[in-house]
Amino acid sequence: MKHFQVIIVGGGPAGSMAGYHLANAGVEVLILDKSVWPRRKVCGGGLTHRALLEIPFDISSTLHAAVEWGTIASGGRELFDIQGSHPISYLVDRPSFDAELVNHAIKKGAVFHPAERVIALKNKDPIEIHTIKSAYSCDYLIGADGVHSLVAKSFDLIPDRKTSLVYEARLNLPKLANKKLADSITFDFGTIFWGYGWIFPKRDHLNVGVCRSWPMEKVGKKHLMRFINQHQALRELPIIDIRAFPVPLGGKTNQLHKDHIIVAGDAANLADPWLGEGLDYAMVSGRIAAEMIVKSIREPSIDLSDYSKRISQTLVMQFKYARRFSILVNALPFINTAVLKSSQTVQKMVIDLLRGDKSYQEIWQELKTLFPLFFHKILNRK
Ligand SMILES: Cc1cc2nc3c(=O)[nH]c(=O)nc-3n(C[C@H](O)[C@H](O)[C@H](O)COP(=O)(O)OP(=O)(O)OC[C@H]3O[C@@H](n4cnc5c(N)ncnc54)[C@H](O)[C@@H]3O)c2cc1C
Repeated sequence: MKHFQVIIVGGGPAGSMAGYHLANAGVEVLILDKSVWPRRKVCGGGLTHRALLEIPFDISSTLHAAVEWGTIASGGRELFDIQGSHPISYLVDRPSFDAELVNHAIKKGAVFHPAERVIALKNKDPIEIHTIKSAYSCDYLIGADGVHSLVAKSFDLIPDRKTSLVYEARLNLPKLANKKLADSITFDFGTIFWGYGWIFPKRDHLNVGVCRSWPMEKVGKKHLMRFINQHQALRELPIIDIRAFPVPLGGKTNQLHKDHIIVAGDAANLADPWLGEGLDYAMVSGRIAAEMIVKSIREPSIDLSDYSKRISQTLVMQFKYARRFSILVNALPFINTAVLKSSQTVQKMVIDLLRGDKSYQEIWQELKTLFPLFFHKILNRK
């Protein structure tokens, strides 16, 4: 049985970034992924500026667009444009983006085995990993195996996982066919109750989708088709394909480690429960997992409980505020629309949020200062 200091299950952004940082610190690391690589992942591929800053190497060759403006709409009606002085959002296509991240981990010395599904795990000393092709052992294990995580299930982590099914379509958009669609992003907060629709430009197509931030009624294909039909510019575009996949609804504090085992990214339910954004949090949790394991390798008396604490105090705390925003936007749609349309200060807050320049908690505090009485009476839920 070949032995590695660390084995990572899953080569998505959480796993590849954990692998990158571990290999960079001189740790022997194996990344196993069940998919043939590069693999298609159902995802809008929208990166915030903050997410981009999390990547310690140049990924400009995989960027499809860096958009400086966008439209906020409601049920197909355009409410107002948002214009940033820097790009508001960076768009990537997941197969090439994920392949780039893994390649950087490999360059640092990580070993990568695609098309090798992990089928069984044993928490022994050392930990045992059985795949469809072989068996391995390791001192530390990272479960970065996405929302259906085998690692989390095998070790009873994330017992009460809340997810939301998200639908997306790729629409054919020949280059320069529609300059506005090709150059901007759209968020439509009125197309679906407790959710939103997005339109993201890629090099040769549009990625459009609908996401609901409350796991009550499931989003279906009918919601996606209604969204497409509400936007005149989308209606005429040929649909390349339609897919659906669950996104975690983060915000609940969980223990994310057990002995020498850690879960990260979607496997740890680390996605924004309002907008469904998870790329940034996958990469951040992958980095923090790597940092904690390096510390523990160098000083074996250090256990991994600080990982759960750090993720809870940083990411999960922000998701709790994201939940408040989802309640605010969905419970009071008419007030929100009026405020958004008339207040440049609030529009700037939206840009800061979309770019990731400010956290949910910071924007929440700014809103409280702007509307103290309103917040005190209606929304001051500690
Ligand atoms: C429709 C949709 C749109 C989205 N749009 C955005 C967006 O625009 N911006 C954003 O920030 N986030 C978005 N997200 C969320 C984002 O896609 C995820 O949060 C992100 O992919 C999480 O990365 P990860 O590395 O944790 O998991 P993943 O990217 O899911 O990677 C997990 C990997 O584990 C592998 N794996 C699973 N099981 C095994 C096994 N048993 N053995 C070996 N390998 C295994 C898989 O093959 C996969 O490669 C969207 C999600 C959906 C569903």
